[in-house]
Amino acid sequence: MARDEYEIYCPKCAWRPQPGDRWACEPSCGTVWNTFWTRGLCPGCGKQWRDTQCLACRAFSPHKQWYHAPRRARPGRTRRRETDTVS
Ligand SMILES: [Zn+2]
Ligand SMILES: [Zn+2]
Repeated sequence: MARDEYEIYCPKCAWRPQPGDRWACEPSCGTVWNTFWTRGLCPGCGKQWRDTQCLACRAFSPHKQWYHAPRRARPGRTRRRETDTVS
């Protein structure tokens, strides 16, 4: 499934992350990366971040809520559940 099917933006303020934006894995390992490349998985220590902070409004939201299906999505599409993370 292509991740391009989803639009990514803050569920609180609709800010859209850019490729050059970075998040830090703190206070865990300090790795800095773009969390949307890995869907919240830290490439340094393997921590799966469930909440992602918006760099615009500073609010934390569950990572999955950043992904929004496009409006042209077909009805009846299976919704991904919160438990659908690779462990
Ligand atoms: Zn925001
Ligand atoms: Zn880490």
